[in-house]
Amino acid sequence: MFIKREGINELLHGAVDMHVHAYPEIHFDCELRLTDLETLQMAKDYGMRGIVFKSHMWPTMASVYQMQQRISGIEAYPSIALNVSSGGINAWAVESAAEQGARVVWMPTWSTKNDIRNGGFYKHMQEVLHRTTDFKEEDGLYILDEHGKVTQNVREVIEIVKQYDLPLFTGHLSPPESLALMRACNEMGLKKVVMDHPDSYSIRATQEQVEEMARLGGFIEFVALGTLPAQQRIHPRKIAEIIKRVGADHVILDTDCFFDYPCPAPEMLRMLVASLLHFGITPEEIIQMVRTNPYYLLNIPQDAPMPAENPQP
Ligand SMILES: [Zn+2]
Repeated sequence: MFIKREGINELLHGAVDMHVHAYPEIHFDCELRLTDLETLQMAKDYGMRGIVFKSHMWPTMASVYQMQQRISGIEAYPSIALNVSSGGINAWAVESAAEQGARVVWMPTWSTKNDIRNGGFYKHMQEVLHRTTDFKEEDGLYILDEHGKVTQNVREVIEIVKQYDLPLFTGHLSPPESLALMRACNEMGLKKVVMDHPDSYSIRATQEQVEEMARLGGFIEFVALGTLPAQQRIHPRKIAEIIKRVGADHVILDTDCFFDYPCPAPEMLRMLVASLLHFGITPEEIIQMVRTNPYYLLNIPQDAPMPAENPQP
């Protein structure tokens, strides 16, 4: 079946990309295809509602605030990743970020024990952070105690995330840690939990672990980056299969746009959407994954009008 171009474009209307890396990320030498503002402008041209900007190093509230002064008709949402550079798994860091408008909290990525063990993103950090020379697997962040329960600092973070009604993404935790986190969130009443890209090199979750996460009420994130030529971690056909198994109401689609080799984020999202349609995902399921679920996670009313265009002074 051929899907008409206008039909695909329409599916991006009102979409939110919940995972785009902001510049500077890691190092000034780590170039991106577009500036963040150019990415926002393109997303606006594609009819999207907004983008969550992420950094592996720092919270993005300040840069998002500045960007939002310079563009209207599109929303930018800031976030914090709880890596050691931002204070680690620490309730102070989360509350401070939330008070400045952070809309997403990511568990740590490159500074987790799991990422270091799997030679994941940590290897990129070694090119720029000299301290990583002495930072070993046992120094990496890990969220479970000897009984397999989440540690007290994690419970404090969950409590604050719940208070501010934010979504908690699992970052680069191992699948068993993510499942334990999900269980703790269920116990404590935090409903918005998202397992980040289960196909990533640092995570490699099994199909059973992904399905268990969804059964426990979590969302699964699939990112366009993992399907690109330079990565090919997962085939879109496989993503489509998993969506059919866990249900589109448990999945979000975004890009993880990063590095200099991908096309710009809105086009990445478009490619992912078109590929999934090709492998049998319905337009209704796409809307659920790029719009309905992100709106729920970000507390955007489902019938919210599109962001207003401010006349230029
Ligand atoms: Zn990312």
